[in-house]
Amino acid sequence: MRIDRIQPWRRIVEALQAIIILGLPFLRIKGESALRFDILSLKLHFFGVSLWMEEFFIVLIATIFLTFLIVSITLIFGRIWCGWLCPQTVLVDFTAFTEKAKKNGILYSLISYSVVFVISFIVSASLIWYFVSPYEFFSRLFAGNLGSIIWGFFIVQGIIIFLNLILLRRKFCATVCPYAKLQSVMFDSKTMIIAFDPARKEECMNCMACVKTCPVGIDIRDGLNAACVSCAECIDECTEMMGRRQKKSLINYFFGLPGEAGRIIRTNAVMIGSITLLSFIFFIYLITTRMAVDMIVLPNYNFSPRITADGASVNSYYLSIKNRGNSDEQLNIRVRGIEGSLNITPDRIAIKAGEDKKIPVYVSVRDYKDNTDVRGLEISIEDDKIKVVKTVNFIWAGEYK
Ligand code: SF4
Ligand code: SF4
Repeated sequence: MRIDRIQPWRRIVEALQAIIILGLPFLRIKGESALRFDILSLKLHFFGVSLWMEEFFIVLIATIFLTFLIVSITLIFGRIWCGWLCPQTVLVDFTAFTEKAKKNGILYSLISYSVVFVISFIVSASLIWYFVSPYEFFSRLFAGNLGSIIWGFFIVQGIIIFLNLILLRRKFCATVCPYAKLQSVMFDSKTMIIAFDPARKEECMNCMACVKTCPVGIDIRDGLNAACVSCAECIDECTEMMGRRQKKSLINYFFGLPGEAGRIIRTNAVMIGSITLLSFIFFIYLITTRMAVDMIVLPNYNFSPRITADGASVNSYYLSIKNRGNSDEQLNIRVRGIEGSLNITPDRIAIKAGEDKKIPVYVSVRDYKDNTDVRGLEISIEDDKIKVVKTVNFIWAGEYK
């Protein structure tokens, strides 16, 4: 491996990207996929945290963070994503052998297209694994009950990916990709680009190696071109050609146009970077302070407030409790907020991971010290890690003392 060339490093990064994207669905944290949206339960499993539909504001914050992350990376490093990490780039590079199909005869075409076909369906399956766990996918596949919807997605996606890889390839970037179209508005005069140094124009041998290697068929010497996917192949070619003359490549990465003083830190980059950082901190705060258990207290309309024979006033409520965590919980039910002798039945609840439970509770108050009919009553479920408190109205049903 030539460590002074960019392409071997790109291949390593691309391989790591492929391993992460294919391998992530197999990784399990607390018994669930590391990253998967479960359509049936409408839950997002995110590295050990299971977010329920009603918590999707956390996903919204994550989306805001990712959007600003993309904008700040594009503003500073230009099309680095396109050249190094984009799945389309990775797939096109890994299936580069298919570009020789036309020249190498029918047998080569047949074999190379077959390999691309298999790769397309592996990629299609890997997309499904972000919705259906790969463990479930394979067990259902081998049991013959994958289901028509999953089969449908698997086949349609596989065919689209296959056609993309044999027909569109790099044309995808210039025609279909929305990010490619948007990024020009994210660039400024200091954004990192791959460019030909016009100050050294006289040194160019006009060998055309940079043009011949360019996958999108542009001549970088003519200046910036929106079709450039920042693959850096022209840099390596020019390094090779100029190296024979013991000179440096005429094409390279530059912050801003060649010859201008490049700067990574600038006002707009700092501002967008700060928003990115703040949204990330907010997201981490929401994830780490999120309560795994939530409770809603509803009035029990089947039980009107009443006074018992021994003088206690009794109200009843329904506790609707959701355990959004990954572990079963045993929680104490407590009541506070009214002066007097307070009691709640039951005073303990067991709730399994993922369970949504609704139970009636009965609150009795003796020796009521107040003289108002309605008092705020705090009902909580708690243990040493969890505490959820809700305030409801308690209606006094007896005589005042
Ligand atoms: S000019 Fe062509 S070879 Fe050079 S980085 Fe852009 S796309 Fe790649
Ligand atoms: S590879 Fe370098 S030397 Fe050759 S044509 Fe391109 S810029 Fe000139």
